[in-house]
Amino acid sequence: MEYLPDFRLHRPTTVEAAVALRADDPSARYLAGGTDMVVNTRRGIERPSALIDLTAIAALGQITSGAAGTRIGAAVTLAALAADRGVQRDYVAVAEAAGAVAGPTHRNYGTVGGNLCLDTRCIYYNQSEWWRASNDFCLKHQGTVCHVAPGGTICFATFSGDLAPALLVHRAEVELAGPDGSRRIALGALYRDDGLDHLTLLPAELVAAVHLPKATAGLPSAYAKSRVRGSIDFPLAGVAVALSQQNGAVAHLAVALTAVNPYPKLVDGTERFAGARLDAAQLDRLRDMVRTQAKPMRTTTIAPWYRRRVTGALARRLAAKLAAGEQPST
Ligand code: SF4
Repeated sequence: MEYLPDFRLHRPTTVEAAVALRADDPSARYLAGGTDMVVNTRRGIERPSALIDLTAIAALGQITSGAAGTRIGAAVTLAALAADRGVQRDYVAVAEAAGAVAGPTHRNYGTVGGNLCLDTRCIYYNQSEWWRASNDFCLKHQGTVCHVAPGGTICFATFSGDLAPALLVHRAEVELAGPDGSRRIALGALYRDDGLDHLTLLPAELVAAVHLPKATAGLPSAYAKSRVRGSIDFPLAGVAVALSQQNGAVAHLAVALTAVNPYPKLVDGTERFAGARLDAAQLDRLRDMVRTQAKPMRTTTIAPWYRRRVTGALARRLAAKLAAGEQPST
């Protein structure tokens, strides 16, 4: 399939109406920028009975700041987020990550919610239907075998959103709207380690907004990624680092990864650097810690060992520059 199948299109103007539509029709899908979902639909990976266009809901398209921090509506485009002066000033890694997604056209359509809910990716999955059929499909969709880990019973498809790691190091929460009302959870709790079903959303639930706490506003942070074509591609490895120091020693260090696990990974153990000076030996230690927690599989054309090494190198480089008081450039 390379054409769009028949579907109904809804354009609600409130979050409640959107959620009610999805609750009534579980095979419907939310649509915002559509930069990934529409492609998957053309390829027969998604077969929605209806699309629920969220772009007419004004409350989802705003960035607001107050005493508690910054609220970013889920339908804010990545381009608008990257250009927001308040986000650029207070949450640098978030602005950098938004500005590093794909190319300008994608960023003008793609949204915060779409990037956070991006489907996991794999070279055996993000292909045309005839290509997948010629390989008897795979475990993630329509098939019974994982071509990455034959004999395995789980899917290792990779989460490749750029925003999530940057939001994780700034301790973001997500606001979810569902049939029973709204709730807020830590961003990390939105994901599970399962390439088949990597989101913990309840039926009909919608990511409505992201909340960045005031407590992490101004925390020095940065994001960098490696990709084949620097102007457009998904990350093959992406790293966000946030670092604050007191008298030259680490006060707070957080590192988060994308594109090397089925979920965005907040690196465990970085609190052990508290009180240490980030000299070459400590930076090597951080690099090695990151490498061991990056678990890339053969889901891209680039070898896993290389992506693991790049992940560690990016973390080391970002941390070194932040420690020196420099803003690394993506
Ligand atoms: Fe399919 Fe395996 Fe790739 Fe998952 S990791 S998409 S099951 S080939």
